[in-house]
Amino acid sequence: MSAGKVYLVGAGPGDPELLTLKAVRAISEADVVVYDRLVPESILATIGDGVLQINVGKRASFHPVPQGEINEMLVRLARAGRVVVRLKGGDPFIFGRGSEEAEELERAGIPYEVVPGITAAQGCAAAAHMPLTHRGMASGVRFVTGHRKADEPLDLDWRSLADPETTLVVYMGLSNAGEIVRNLIDHGLPASTPVLAVCQGTTPREQRFCTHLEALPLVLKDVSLSGPVLFIIGKVAAIARERNPQRCARGAAESEAVPVVA
Ligand code: SAH
Repeated sequence: MSAGKVYLVGAGPGDPELLTLKAVRAISEADVVVYDRLVPESILATIGDGVLQINVGKRASFHPVPQGEINEMLVRLARAGRVVVRLKGGDPFIFGRGSEEAEELERAGIPYEVVPGITAAQGCAAAAHMPLTHRGMASGVRFVTGHRKADEPLDLDWRSLADPETTLVVYMGLSNAGEIVRNLIDHGLPASTPVLAVCQGTTPREQRFCTHLEALPLVLKDVSLSGPVLFIIGKVAAIARERNPQRCARGAAESEAVPVVA
């Protein structure tokens, strides 16, 4: 039996057209696709008939398939000679645990390739026509996770993150938005700092909210969001509204008008 192989593939933020050519090729070669909750139906629909699809979808505090079992599954399938695509939302190595899977494959001596994906921060920013860096506004960008282990405070270097000259992108921050905002303001980031919050970015169900730091928890209270949410915090977030106020103020469907707090 020929040796199998694993592709650790980023599916991008949601829009199937944001898959890379390499991702599309890997998917077309696959015998098995092991995918996460973040991979949308429209991308799963591109998988050929006869390819085994395994959903190992995870939630922030609920792991239907524990990481250890996913690792073992990848090794087992590859050892059985399968070409496996491990398909993850965004980029597999940005808050995606892809590197833990790579570690396991290294240990097991399984050949693998990493196919980068467009991470949510890039996809959501581009969809809103805003840059993550911009001369004179943001000299850099940082990606952090707003998720924490149960009952523990967020373990982030707030002093360094509260920098008005760089853009801060918070993944998985929805349930801790209040704590994130309080800490940033307490450490000196102006309460008026623009914020763009995006839910299901780059998909037809995308919702976008332009606000400022202090108002973010209130805005979030007023709306019901289902799906992944990202916060982009920094001066550049004001550009999203300037460039396309209409789209920034509304959900994708015209009926989903939402408040814009300036
Ligand atoms: N590997 C992924 C991130 C996984 S962590 C990537 O590179 O994008 C999951 C978090 O990503 C979500 O909680 C949310 O904060 C963010 N996210 C992923 N896709 C998103 C989307 N389409 N719109 C908004 N946020 C998204």
